Formats: sequence, structure tokens, C-alpha cells
Amino acid sequence: MKKFLVFTAVLSLIQAEPNWEKIRHETVDMFQQYLRINTSNPPGDVRKAAKWFADIFAKEGILFETFTVPEDPRRMHVLAELKGMNPELKPLLLLNHMDVVPVDEEFWNEKPFDGELRDGVIYGRGALDMKGLGIMELMAIIQLHREGWRPERTIKFLAVADEEILGEYGTQWMIKHHWDKLDPEWVWDEGGIGSKDSFPGVSAFAIAVAQKKSFWVEAVVEGKSGHGMRPYKDHPNEILVKALARIVEWNTPLEINPVVDEMFNRLGEKIGGGQGFVMKSLDNGLVRFFAGGTVADASTSVNAMLRNTISLTMLNSGYKTNIIPEKATATLDIRLLPHAEPEDFLEDLKTIVNDDRVQFILKRTPRNKYVSDWNTDFFNILQNELEREKPDALVMPFMTIGGTDSQFFQAKGINSYGLVPVMVTEADIQSIHGIDERLSVDNLMMGTRIVYHTIKRTCGPNE
Ligand SMILES: [Zn+2]
Repeated sequence: MKKFLVFTAVLSLIQAEPNWEKIRHETVDMFQQYLRINTSNPPGDVRKAAKWFADIFAKEGILFETFTVPEDPRRMHVLAELKGMNPELKPLLLLNHMDVVPVDEEFWNEKPFDGELRDGVIYGRGALDMKGLGIMELMAIIQLHREGWRPERTIKFLAVADEEILGEYGTQWMIKHHWDKLDPEWVWDEGGIGSKDSFPGVSAFAIAVAQKKSFWVEAVVEGKSGHGMRPYKDHPNEILVKALARIVEWNTPLEINPVVDEMFNRLGEKIGGGQGFVMKSLDNGLVRFFAGGTVADASTSVNAMLRNTISLTMLNSGYKTNIIPEKATATLDIRLLPHAEPEDFLEDLKTIVNDDRVQFILKRTPRNKYVSDWNTDFFNILQNELEREKPDALVMPFMTIGGTDSQFFQAKGINSYGLVPVMVTEADIQSIHGIDERLSVDNLMMGTRIVYHTIKRTCGPNE
């Protein structure tokens, strides 16, 4: 009798695992269809993509709603759900954006909106950012729904517009107008990825739990104008140029925030040796003093993870060769570490410039300080599923140096996690916002399996 029970348990486990070979063909087809819908932003028209999702959900009998932004009807959002049996549990939100960045077609070797499959690789704008994860999420919930699976916790699928411009009509609009329909326990978004060769000697899945934040500031100097044949001291251009020289020369202090510390610890433990020791000990003042500069110099990305940065991106002044203008402006793209306060940084900046004639006008002041907890059921189960697919890979929390829609959920204190669950190379990652963006069929299917299993385990019922 006992033997028989074990046998049926094993049998039910086998049956519980979908036939991935069968799903493969359909998943590839869906991905290609989606890539063929051009959702470049600008102009950011996602109506066709939203309708495409809506038709699929209608056909599958999955509950869904679409939303149109009245101020700009080209902005639409699709929210679908698998309803959980326990209303006490807040939903898991699968977040993905439908818009993509534009392409410079002459540099592409492939057609950006054909979804072509060659040698096991599918090409197209949005393959990694982020139509790929959108399809993995879609296929996972379709599969679970077809199985007649009843979750404990509700699963919501939200496809949004306008992520690529972090626009007010994208995720922010949904949060502002329909929070009651979202209110999640966890958000699964983009922001991190698995890479074979971005970190020395180790494959790693980097799950984004925090992000740097954009603090945009304009430096302005006003004074009197004059003729170029009679130069004089301290005209606006001169004052501004001197101030900017101090700003670009400023080495902002190295800071190891807790996410980066955890990341370097896990990397250090995995890599071992001297390099591993430095990474593990980066929060040790002495090691930081001797090695911190070297680590920061290793790459511009690592540097950006270790300090607040300033990029001088725009200079604006003058209108005629022989006229000294009365006003000069410069735009600074400042990226702050999660815990940094914009006002404190501005004070430091003023001290560096040390000239009251330079005014600073704040164009965008970020308020998000939230770092997602990496000791949650969601993180642990996702980590476990990643390790099941890639036993040799390291899984670690990560801070993105760019911005994603997660910031708007994190600003509300929601634990948001960014990961496209694929294992790619640096060259593949460079294709994001670059040329020949692509994703292999193997990765597409691995990601779909990981999303499927992670949903199943985080949203129960427990087997
Ligand atoms: Zn994206």
C-alpha cells in the first residue's frame, strides 16, 4: 500500500510537470508575433500590443482588463489575473512593459521587427528589454490556467506603456489611478539578468533589489553681456566653466551600500583567492583604501555602483561669435545611491563649486529610498529555481545603475525584484538598447520554466 502511494505521488509529480517540448513551439511563435509589433517609444504607441494581449487572454478565458490613458490614448495597459483562493494574501504582480527603445536600423544586421529565428536565436528590438520576460510571464500563466491550477495567492500580470521614458502615463499612471487593483506583496520586474561573463570567473544571476536614482540639476550663471572684442573678468561663461571644471574633477567618495556589500560578499565567496578576498572585504576601511580605487576603476559600471556620479550632459550658452552672453547653463545628470538624500548631495556640490554666483535649479528630485528585502519567500524561492536550472551559477541581490518601473512600487514600500531569468553573455547584454537585440530559444524556455515554477511555489497551494 505504501509503495503504491509513493508510486502515485511520483506519478502526480511527473504529471505536474508540463510538456515543455510541446509548449516550446507555441512560446517561440508567441514571442515572434510580439516582436513583430513595433512599439518604439517615441512615439510609444502600444495599442496593437495591448490588443494582442487582450485577444490572447480572451481566447484562453483568463480574466483581464485594459486601460486607456485619456490624456494620450496611445498609452494603454493590460491587467490580467489568476484569482487566488485566499483573499488575505496580497498578489504577486508580474510586471512588464510593452514599449521598446527605437532602433537605428542602418546599424542592425538583422531586421529589428521581424522576429527572425536563426540557429536557435530570435532577433528583434525588445527581445531582452523586455518582451522576452513578458512572454515568459504570459506563457507561464496560460499554462497554469490550462492545467486548471488554483492558486492560494492571486497572480496579476500587468503589461504597461511608457517604461522607456519612465513616463507619467506608464506604471505611474496605473499606480495613481488603479492602486486598488494592484496593491501587491511582491513585484517581479526587469532590472537584473543572468550573465556568463560579466563578473570574473563566475556565472551569476543578479536580481535587482535597488536602483540608483536620477537627480537632474541645472547649473546657471547670469550676469551682464558685452562685446567679444573687450573681454572682462567674471562673465557668466567664465564663471560657469570654472565651476564645471571643479565638478568634473570631483571624485565623489566611495560608498559601499548594503546591497553592493552583499553582492560583493557573495561574489567574493564564490570566486575565492585574492580577488575574492578584496570583494568580500570591501566594506573594510583598510581594504577599501588600498583596493577600492582599483575596483572602482575596473569598469565604469562598477564605478557607478560604488559612488554618486555626475555626468555633465548639456551646455547651453551664447548666440553670436562676438557677443559675450548674459547667461550660461549646464545640465548635470546626477545618479545617487539609494540611501543618498538629494539635498545633502547638493550641499556637497555647492561646497565643491564654492561660488555663490552659480545657481542650482532642481529639475528632478528623486524620493525613493527603498531597498527590497532579499530575505523574503519570493527571493528565496526564485533563487532556488535559478539554482535548479543552473547549479553552478551564483544568485545575488543587485543594484541597477539605471532606472526601471520598480522604483514606483518601491517608493510605496513594495518589495520589487528585477530579473530577466536567462543566462546570456556581455555581448548579448550590450544588444539591449543597442544593435541586433536577441534571445535564444533555450533561454526563452528556461525563463518560462523558472517563471512557471516560481509562481507555482510562491502562490501555493503547498504540495
Ligand atoms: Zn526595460
